Amino acid sequence: IYITTMSNESITTIHEFDFNLICEFFLNTERQGPGSPEATLKALSFIDNLTDKSLIADIGCGTGGQTMVLAQQAPGQITGFDIFPSFIDRFNSNAKELNLQDRVKGIVRSMDDLPFQNEGLDLIWCEGAIYNIGFERGLNEWRKFLKPGGYIAVTESSWFTKKRPAEIEHYCMPHFPEMNTISNKIAQIEKAGYMPVATFILPETCWTDHYFTPMIKAQEMFLDKYAGNRMAEEFVELQRYDAEIYHKYKEFYGYVFYIAKKVEQ
Ligand code: SAM
Repeated sequence: IYITTMSNESITTIHEFDFNLICEFFLNTERQGPGSPEATLKALSFIDNLTDKSLIADIGCGTGGQTMVLAQQAPGQITGFDIFPSFIDRFNSNAKELNLQDRVKGIVRSMDDLPFQNEGLDLIWCEGAIYNIGFERGLNEWRKFLKPGGYIAVTESSWFTKKRPAEIEHYCMPHFPEMNTISNKIAQIEKAGYMPVATFILPETCWTDHYFTPMIKAQEMFLDKYAGNRMAEEFVELQRYDAEIYHKYKEFYGYVFYIAKKVEQ
């Protein structure tokens, strides 16, 4: 199940209960999307411009699973942005627990309204969240915030093959209308004014060990707490279906890390 929202208004007026419920569920998980510390560090290994003075943004940071890994390895100041206040509260308490609060701060803000100066950032990080603004729109709009030679590292759902079974196309396309093959995504990165530096498919364990498996316990706790609540039950059913679909079709799609460097256009 995917959290997709672009406006604060829709959270507070239309879907208040749904979003509160969804956020509460995800507060019991370390990550809110597929990924792993190993994948985060592998992506970071391609980035060579960071110093203590570097400014880094982690957009759609959730509770900060990947941000804390990044902060423990990379120098500089990291600001995490997410639209949900409860995720950011947890993000900031996680940073404090790890004694990273002087370098790592979470702010409630939408990714289409980021508070940076042009050419202010050394690195933009975004795991499993750029689809909210749109892959091409995010690449284009965020580019101006990067210093010349700055980097962007994002994960995005991508097709691994040119042809796919209809069931998986129909399942993914409504959530991810920009889903595309890796080569087409790389062409979009180049078109937006970046040099592709590295691309790798997230290993299956990013979905299983780090995402679906930890969710099983969170789902059980959630169903206990909200026994008889149809919305909570449907939410868990959808998540379980999501896992089933992944296991059935994992050779056709997955998350891909794209690391790219801003170049002159
Ligand atoms: N990066 C985290 C991770 O990999 O665990 C979270 C990924 S989760 C699939 C997508 C995140 O994007 C959620 O935390 C969600 O709240 C956030 N999000 C959704 N719409 C947003 C928006 N308009 N601005 C900022 N964050 C947003």
